[in-house]
Amino acid sequence: GGTIGIIGGGQLGRMLALAAAPLGYKVHVFDPHERPCAADVAAAFTRAEFDDVAALERFAAACDVVTYEFENLPVDPLATIAGKLRPGTASLAIAQDRCAEKAFVEGAGARPAAWRAIEGPDDIAAAVEALGLPLVLKTRRDGYDGKGQAWLRSADDVAAVWDDLGGRPLVAEQAIGFEAEFSVVLARGADGGLAFYDSTRNTHEDGILRRSELPAGELIEGQVDQARRQAGAIAERLGHVGVLTVEYFACADGPLVNEIAPRVHNSGHWTIEGAVTSQFAQHIRAIAGLPLGSTALRSPRVAMDNLIGDEIDAWPQLAADPAAALHLYGKGAPRPGRKMGHVTRIG
Ligand code: ATP
Ligand code: MG
Ligand code: MG
Repeated sequence: GGTIGIIGGGQLGRMLALAAAPLGYKVHVFDPHERPCAADVAAAFTRAEFDDVAALERFAAACDVVTYEFENLPVDPLATIAGKLRPGTASLAIAQDRCAEKAFVEGAGARPAAWRAIEGPDDIAAAVEALGLPLVLKTRRDGYDGKGQAWLRSADDVAAVWDDLGGRPLVAEQAIGFEAEFSVVLARGADGGLAFYDSTRNTHEDGILRRSELPAGELIEGQVDQARRQAGAIAERLGHVGVLTVEYFACADGPLVNEIAPRVHNSGHWTIEGAVTSQFAQHIRAIAGLPLGSTALRSPRVAMDNLIGDEIDAWPQLAADPAAALHLYGKGAPRPGRKMGHVTRIG
């Protein structure tokens, strides 16, 4: 037993809190919003800004270990609670900055898409020269669910795209003609041991994950060993403890890293029903210093579909489907593009 602190109160924090309970842990959520959905299932809730150092110190003092479910947090305020933080600030600092992340990925022996750091429209024009078109431009920080991204298809649009993305530092990436997408979801224990989940085939729509499914198909299956070696090296170099996800593009000539999430991941939600130990229970085990659980499949066939925006309105039919495991996040009124729940089918 003991108390686990979770910084961030979204659905990932909610599912972490639900997984902590059977292991005997109480959960304390820290989030600036009024009624985050994780707080509804937690024993305690602190409402404060992520950069409120005094509030963070009081919160950490009430917890045995502190984790985060969201990577777009200011790193510096966490310095005083670093001793209790798992994973640590290195994982956070790298994963929240797309340029630092790509350089780190290269240093770990993996390949990102060809990229350039962008500080202004002239850098975009230079990136077009160097990398060609189309380019994918992403805000260097704060993006998620495809927000803060634009495709540049013509050099005439450089100024417009720079303005559309708010005149902020960006990364320019070569547009990848991938065959498929997959992710490596792994856990690294406090003792450095690694456990890998099966890699699903992930389908995105408008930058948002639509579906994750197993079997993932031959192309992905043929790239998973290499991707696992890379993801394991990334976790080790970060000194990461907990679940870590590396998103990949499966290309004809091998896997390319898209990005790193230093946390449980939407493409691992299927593990709640589809694996012996869910990614959420696994993360709790890792940060609490418990042995990692089995990642074995309960079924070779699994599909997880997100319920985005008003798709949540179909919940009564899904609740009536005996083959569907329905998860509603309790977020209130649906908004377009917002993840409201998911449904998993196994077998
Ligand atoms: P997440 O919610 O996963 O953190 P994000 O906002 O960080 O999302 P990315 O993962 O960078 O977004 O991109 C979202 C999706 O957009 C990718 O999964 C992929 O389908 C597409 N995409 C991103 N970058 C590229 C690229 N360089 N070439 C082709 N498609 C891309
Ligand atoms: Mg991302
Ligand atoms: Mg992504």
